[in-house]
Amino acid sequence: MTVRTRFAPSPTGLLHVGNIRTALHNWLWAKKHGGTFWLRIDDTDAERSEERFVESIRADLGWLGLTIDGEERQSSRFARYEARFEQLRAAGRVYPAYETQAELDLKRKIAAGRGLPPLYDRAALALTDADRAALEADGVRPHWRFKLDHDAPIVWDDLIRGPQRFDAKTMSDPVIRRADGSWLYMLPSAIDDAEMGITHVVRGEDHVSNTALQLQMFEAMGATPPAFAHEALLTGSEGKLSKRLGSLGVAHFRDSGIEPEAVRALLARIGTSDPVEPLVDTAALVAGFDFSRFGRAPARFDEAELAGVNTRIVHQLDFERVAGRLPAGMRRAEWEAVRPNLTRIDEAAEWWRVIEGPITAERDPADAAFLAEAAAIAATLDWGADPWGTLTAALKAASGRSGKALFLPLRRALTGLDHGPDMKALLPLIGRDRAIARLS
Ligand code: GLU
Repeated sequence: MTVRTRFAPSPTGLLHVGNIRTALHNWLWAKKHGGTFWLRIDDTDAERSEERFVESIRADLGWLGLTIDGEERQSSRFARYEARFEQLRAAGRVYPAYETQAELDLKRKIAAGRGLPPLYDRAALALTDADRAALEADGVRPHWRFKLDHDAPIVWDDLIRGPQRFDAKTMSDPVIRRADGSWLYMLPSAIDDAEMGITHVVRGEDHVSNTALQLQMFEAMGATPPAFAHEALLTGSEGKLSKRLGSLGVAHFRDSGIEPEAVRALLARIGTSDPVEPLVDTAALVAGFDFSRFGRAPARFDEAELAGVNTRIVHQLDFERVAGRLPAGMRRAEWEAVRPNLTRIDEAAEWWRVIEGPITAERDPADAAFLAEAAAIAATLDWGADPWGTLTAALKAASGRSGKALFLPLRRALTGLDHGPDMKALLPLIGRDRAIARLS
């Protein structure tokens, strides 16, 4: 069996961190098994679907490095849905129903008043051909329901939630098609999963009861159902379902200086019992990924944790990976010197200014003689070797200073700052002429 997963967003908005996590897990699972990862655009809802969202979904997956092996679009598959619908109708598994929304609401209220669950009573199944003809003659168009098999047990072994069991008798026959002929999510999705050869459906636990219904649809179509993994939902750092999560997506991450590697590393692990590791390499993420590691408790997403992972990722990024985003002229040596001091790549520009100058540095009059001495020594150094080591050793001997009294005035004069990258790496980059000028 070649694993094939799919990520199936509806293009009615931008991807948020919850969708991104689902996409990532589908991708990781496919990679782990040498399989393929598909994007399926769930755009049956023509009113709410927008092309700009389709484009942003593709772009976001690209930014995240979640390369797709193929793409399907529900809006190009209506003929397939029609064909399956006709088969199911001929087999008596879909039936027309004529209740208005108001009638259904009333039925629900009556059931609730009797303390009963709001189950559809299947009144439409009792209609005769004559009843239907009369309704249609009155201009009533039916919507369509899938007829559940009340006798078949619904069971599956969820890759995250373990053994699941539903009783079809406790569920309403789902509406699969509206009176205007448009499709609801449920049946097209099952048809696509069957016809695309999807082996694993990975999605949020809000779909668990849909899965129960869709398993009967696979059965009715004579298709082998995929395996399912339903993920616990994501919560904000306060542990609550947060509205903010819905607005956190790739644009926000990019603007905050967050790298895709950090998003991947964090979202691959939260919700598992494993520690979050700053893994740049996807092979390592893939190797450590398994649904059996995930728990049923909500996964906590904390932006501060993401920023922390990002810092540790940035410290590992190669020059080649970041070169296009560095200030013009900045080379490998500068990148490697300043990298340990960054929390995000664009901060490299601040250190580039420190290297290139001009800088403004405050000088303590008490350090004047010491710095003049430093400038004199700097003029005599071999700048090709270790100028910082030689300079500080010579100054230590000449001035008797050590520790902070030795290093801090030098750092201040040379960079204008009290802190920063290792001076041993930084000084050769500032270079002889600028260093002498700054010390003088
Ligand atoms: N379009 C559905 C959603 O975004 C897809 C769910 C699924 O993965 O089947 O919720």
